[in-house]
Amino acid sequence: MSFIESLFGLAGKVALVSGASRGIGSTIAGGLEQAGARVVGVARSPRPLSFPEGVEYRQADVCDGSQVREIVEDVFERFGRIDVYVHAAGISLQPTTPDRQLADFAQTVDVNLKAAYACAVIVAEPMRRAGGGSVIYITSIGSMLGFPDNPGYVASKGGLRMLTRALAVDFGKHNIRVNAVAPGYVRTAMTEASFTDPLLHEQRRRHTLLGRWGEAADVVGAVIFLASAASSYVTGQDIVVDGGWTAKGLV
Ligand code: NAP
Repeated sequence: MSFIESLFGLAGKVALVSGASRGIGSTIAGGLEQAGARVVGVARSPRPLSFPEGVEYRQADVCDGSQVREIVEDVFERFGRIDVYVHAAGISLQPTTPDRQLADFAQTVDVNLKAAYACAVIVAEPMRRAGGGSVIYITSIGSMLGFPDNPGYVASKGGLRMLTRALAVDFGKHNIRVNAVAPGYVRTAMTEASFTDPLLHEQRRRHTLLGRWGEAADVVGAVIFLASAASSYVTGQDIVVDGGWTAKGLV
């Protein structure tokens, strides 16, 4: 095995990725598999035709603990380990009517934050029994900055950023590392409306230092790093993958 393979290779590791039916989660699932891991993707939709070949796919709602537990137990029984959990499941609801605001806030927090905690607690047990693991939360630049008209999203991602630290503290004694990857604007179904609106597209593009929107593939390297031995002494951290959005001073 080469030095690079020993650092970044994931051969022998088992990874579970939620939010895997499309976008960033699907690309992460494919990327982890390419790096050598056995990967199980999870989302509510039926397996999409475009889903990476060679990656197992299971249908479940991350807000339903019993569905998640059933998958985790099954994976652990078949493979004897779960090394990596990526919580890419997330929602960003468009503003609707004032009477929906509280319900939308609660629903967003349920998927983006509460389920992220519940899933980590469920995977932590098999990780602990196998000697350790890596939990990776997909947060957002919205975990650090205010954005308009979507308080549930910003609050849930800000909470997820701090949950990363809280669980890094609680799980460290079990050799379970907990880190976050915070993407900037990435072209997916979630951002399709702003990507296709010429004004919003340009506004977001110009705010980056690299002068372009992100692609889902831009997020994969940071996740492989956090899943692999290369990050064996890294926990409780954010890796910001935003084309320089948060580093920019003068807009
Ligand atoms: P997306 O294309 O809308 O994908 C969201 C994924 O989450 C889908 O696979 C969806 O699958 C899944 N999901 C939603 N609710 C779920 C639930 N209750 N149970 C299980 N799966 C659920 O969005 P994306 O852009 O790839 O976003 C992926 C993650 O990156 C999210 O956490 C998002 O907040 C974060 N992020 C995205 C951007 C961006 O610019 N795109 C920037 C920063 C952070 P089903 O609908 O099939 O369940």
